[in-house]
Amino acid sequence: MKYLLLFFIFMVLLWQWRHARAPKVKQAQRKSASGPVDMVRCAHCGLHLPASDAVQGASALYCSTEHRQAQES
Ligand SMILES: [Zn+2]
Repeated sequence: MKYLLLFFIFMVLLWQWRHARAPKVKQAQRKSASGPVDMVRCAHCGLHLPASDAVQGASALYCSTEHRQAQES
């Protein structure tokens, strides 16, 4: 009977620990899967890259400042 009680207490503690941890795990999964990212094409080499990483040129987007200078000069 004593071991059954200890087992029951252990299971309750384990359940509470997992219950307290679950929301953090869900938040981490949401951050990693943050949805689609807009992709743009470099006007010089044709590389596709995220729009947030692109370099804005006079009339187009580029993957790097080197490619912007090579295309626009
Ligand atoms: Zn490029």
